[in-house]
Amino acid sequence: MDYIDSVLKGVEERNPGQPEFMQAVTEVLETLRPVLVKHSEFKHAKILERITEPERQIMFRVAWQDDSGEVHVNRGYRVEFNSAIGPYKGGLRFHPSVNLSIIKFLGFEQIFKNSLTTLPIGGGKGGSDFDPKGKSNNEVMRFCQSFMTELYRHIGDDTDVPAGDIGVGGREVGYLFGQYKRITNRFEGVLTGKSINWGGSLVRTEATGYGLVYLVNEMLKGAKKNIDGMTCVVSGSGNVAIYAVEKATQLGAKCVAMSDSSGYIYDPDGIKLDTVKQLKEVERKRIKEYVAVHPSAKYVEGCSGIWTIPCQIALPCATQNELNAESAATLIKNGVVAVAEGANMPTTPDGADLFVKAGVLFGPGKAANAGGVATSGLEMQQNDMRMQWSFDEVDHRLKNIMKGIYTNISESAKEFGFENNFIAGANIAGFLKVANSMMDQGLF
Ligand code: NDP
Repeated sequence: MDYIDSVLKGVEERNPGQPEFMQAVTEVLETLRPVLVKHSEFKHAKILERITEPERQIMFRVAWQDDSGEVHVNRGYRVEFNSAIGPYKGGLRFHPSVNLSIIKFLGFEQIFKNSLTTLPIGGGKGGSDFDPKGKSNNEVMRFCQSFMTELYRHIGDDTDVPAGDIGVGGREVGYLFGQYKRITNRFEGVLTGKSINWGGSLVRTEATGYGLVYLVNEMLKGAKKNIDGMTCVVSGSGNVAIYAVEKATQLGAKCVAMSDSSGYIYDPDGIKLDTVKQLKEVERKRIKEYVAVHPSAKYVEGCSGIWTIPCQIALPCATQNELNAESAATLIKNGVVAVAEGANMPTTPDGADLFVKAGVLFGPGKAANAGGVATSGLEMQQNDMRMQWSFDEVDHRLKNIMKGIYTNISESAKEFGFENNFIAGANIAGFLKVANSMMDQGLF
């Protein structure tokens, strides 16, 4: 058993029953072998053992009352994973599937993603098994207030700056911020994803989807290919998916499919995004309603079938492990050129392996969806300066950050013998900055 295997064994023994966390740790550590050969000082300082153990894990009870007066109890989480390069930063996820393993996998990924943005932000993640779906605004507000009544003592603009994720959008961030301000009497940039009227950044809503497509564009340019005219399939119809479709369409691609957790729509003439925005952002309806407006489109029940639609660009933007080896093989057979992860860890490890082996340009989530947190970092900068940049200013910075990420991951992959393997490149580039910072700061 080599050193990396023995670290993985130790992590598994200390974290039983946490498959998502183990999957994320294994995926990163497996690509770090050549780094450890070159940097034996990391082994001596037990950087791998330390980086896989969160600095702090907070779990708490969240009791709240529904509109009929009935009391409910949920569990809240905040995992403050690594602060070597800046205050902890990462979203809050409200979804019934949330557990410690999921929050730790997301927090672990966030360390390297945040490092890749070049901004001074550490890694963290949090959330709750609360399901905002089907709840009234007042119920969501009471839940958020109860959640923040515990969380506020652990966060702050120089300590830990949460943001949104699945189930936490502008409405939830507003209620959370309001309660933080009420308790602390401080108006500070403690949360990102805020509304434009009270400290939010322009482009934050679009940032993850736009950034994803900027990275795809760079990968394609690096391979002397052009996004213009390519057919694109995007899973999900939430925040990331919608703005990925918007930017891909602006750059000349034709997006023909989107989905939600019930099924997918296929519109061979190109998705009419205005309809999707109306259904999802305004009316909060199911994606299948799209075919009532556009009868030439088709709705298919079930999600994974979306990957059988022939395309050159595939963008999984829904959830973890939504694209498996079978779907990857079908996409490859149908001629996919680029796959980039808008969601966190949407591709199973064997699926990702197939893409890399087939020479498909594969952008892993920690690089491809880093535009969201990068723009949150830009929101923090604007809050610190008490000012607001224009849409074009933020978009320009986002584009440059995504270009920089592409250069960084492709050069790191090459340097360590993984040419064109952007999974390895992203892991190595993200890791080196954090590991070197941990070395500088002594044992912690
Ligand atoms: P949203 O909640 O806005 O949207 C999620 C979308 O995925 C919804 O359309 C949802 O459908 C769909 N979905 C959920 N589960 C499945 C499933 N099993 N199969 C198919 N579709 C499914 O979330 P976001 O768009 O914000 O986030 C999506 C992903 O991107 C997550 O992995 C998140 O961690 C990641 N991410 C998000 C960032 C951001 O800035 N928003 C930043 C970086 C990463 P339904 O409505 O039916 O639930």
